[in-house]
Amino acid sequence: MRKIRVTVFCEHNQDKYEPVKSVYPDGMHTAIAEAFEDSEFEVTIATQDMPLHGLSDEVLNNTDVLFWWSHIDNNLLDDGVANAVCKRVVQDGMGFVALHSATFSKPWQRLLGIEFEAGEWGRFRTMPKGEKERLWVIAPGHPICQGITDCIEIPKDEMYGEPMIIPDPDKLLFIAWWEGGDVCRSGVLYDRGRGKVFGFTPGHETFPIYYQEEIRKVLRNAARFMAPDPQMIIQSGEGHLSGDPRENLTHCM
Ligand code: ZN
Repeated sequence: MRKIRVTVFCEHNQDKYEPVKSVYPDGMHTAIAEAFEDSEFEVTIATQDMPLHGLSDEVLNNTDVLFWWSHIDNNLLDDGVANAVCKRVVQDGMGFVALHSATFSKPWQRLLGIEFEAGEWGRFRTMPKGEKERLWVIAPGHPICQGITDCIEIPKDEMYGEPMIIPDPDKLLFIAWWEGGDVCRSGVLYDRGRGKVFGFTPGHETFPIYYQEEIRKVLRNAARFMAPDPQMIIQSGEGHLSGDPRENLTHCM
């Protein structure tokens, strides 16, 4: 059976230093990639310090679903790479998953048609010791929620809360409840062209959230659901992408 080709992109900056280093000693990308150790997946790692941020055309063309964690270096991402990611989603159907502060990343914002800096998009609250979060499944029949019973309890995370300035999702999968009383649309799914994009808010860098099995299960479910069907991909110049008329238009010439 064909493997699902997952690429994990991480900016890999804060995890080189404390206090994040002791939580993710091998980098956040390693912990996220460990979610896909199952033989049904093939995983590539990309970090922002690699040439082309590790996201050459060759890598993108061999990616079914791209998982993206980024934070303080969002604005340093090359515009050409961000656009290549968006193009691969819209034209070829690659899935794109924005994790936590990747909500400020160029690809996610371009795919959603939004533009804002941290603090402009909604509420957030950074507590040094973290806040308890319950991630309630509100679409229990959806493939991305498969195997999650009622909710995922995350002992500590950074609060992201409403109102979030995002387009209404095509499908809302999770709502977070916070110890401090806030709520957040924390699992939002959209169709963009031939591709699917998913925003999943848990994952502040100082807490070991990407080791949590239920979180990894959601990531695996997302990879399975969002990988494009190879049959679906229409090559440019064929079908409706060509400008050839289906009817005789000589009278228009
Ligand atoms: Zn954070």
